[in-house]
Amino acid sequence: MVDMFWVGCPKCRGTFCAATRDFKGQDREMICPFCSHAFKDTEGVEPQEGTGAGWLKTAK
Ligand SMILES: [Zn+2]
Repeated sequence: MVDMFWVGCPKCRGTFCAATRDFKGQDREMICPFCSHAFKDTEGVEPQEGTGAGWLKTAK
């Protein structure tokens, strides 16, 4: 199973998940599925409350 993590888009605040292996701590850009904004893991914001990302806290 691919390890995923939740990330919040710094532009539209949309929350989505990305592959940890590919993007966590990597110098690669993720593309937001909501607004197509490209950003790196370090630019991501905390996932919004109430978006089903509750398990993220244990995954960190
Ligand atoms: Zn976005």
